[in-house]
Amino acid sequence: MTAEKYYQSLEAILANRSDFEIKFYKLAYRRGDYRFCRLASKGIKKNDKVILIRAGIHGDEISGPLSLLKYFNEIADYVHGLGLKLIIYPLGNPSGFEKGLRYNIDNDKGAAGNNDFLRYELGDGTLADDIKSGVKFKHWFWSSEQKLKIALAKETKLMHRLLRSDPLKQIVACLDLHQDYITPVAPAACYHYAFGNLNCYRKIISQLKKEILVWGNQVIGAGYNVLLDKTGKVKSKKLSDDAMVSDASGFIKRHDGTLPDLFWRLGAKYCVTSETTGATPMEIAMKVNLIWIKGLAELVSVSSSSRRGSTP
Ligand SMILES: [Zn+2]
Repeated sequence: MTAEKYYQSLEAILANRSDFEIKFYKLAYRRGDYRFCRLASKGIKKNDKVILIRAGIHGDEISGPLSLLKYFNEIADYVHGLGLKLIIYPLGNPSGFEKGLRYNIDNDKGAAGNNDFLRYELGDGTLADDIKSGVKFKHWFWSSEQKLKIALAKETKLMHRLLRSDPLKQIVACLDLHQDYITPVAPAACYHYAFGNLNCYRKIISQLKKEILVWGNQVIGAGYNVLLDKTGKVKSKKLSDDAMVSDASGFIKRHDGTLPDLFWRLGAKYCVTSETTGATPMEIAMKVNLIWIKGLAELVSVSSSSRRGSTP
């Protein structure tokens, strides 16, 4: 599917709703121009709680963008029905989506891949984009901070700019939708990255288990130091030192500088990356994403306390 075809389908759905606004921004790559889309509930007020969903930053992982299309009305009605608001970046990497590439059409992955939102300054002054389960650090920065002079892919840079205008303090949950086509010989399964006390996700995990194998106690290194072939397609790689082990419920806590890691540092309470393996049938992968979206919405709707002001 082309990016424009995706946007057409999305706009056809929105034509029947009056509760969303959609805006487009231009991405000018060497190999062509693409539009980037931001969707938001209309009229977000100062005390509204907001869920931010991003999909498709890795362009070949299409189940996220497609689940947002397939379930858009169900998601929107559910979240609005709970009195919450949505901000959605449905196609984080439109040219990669169109071409089946992890990175963009120019194959520009920036300094640290295109899901690059954060840098940690360690005790010795060095900067790290991935501190795994967490080493001590002095400060954190948005990776777009000018003085750091970090090269970012165009779609990443644009999203940094748009996020700066989003009501960041009101975002209680950030969900990033991915697929894992990299882990070798993986069965159909799901796993997830999250932070903090994971007990709050128990109900979601039990719902997931009804649909799919929840990949607990697995060594997972996908997404780190990814190898590409000449055309920009991902080559499976062997497990390396980068790998971490998921817990019994399929969770990995990894401060890897991605969008959910940024939101964790910004104080959002629920910061999750949903992953389904490439062997997972598309219908099931989309259901997994829907379970996460609705489950997080339920958590946000009853959550009163904030992490803000507490120690990270
Ligand atoms: Zn991914």
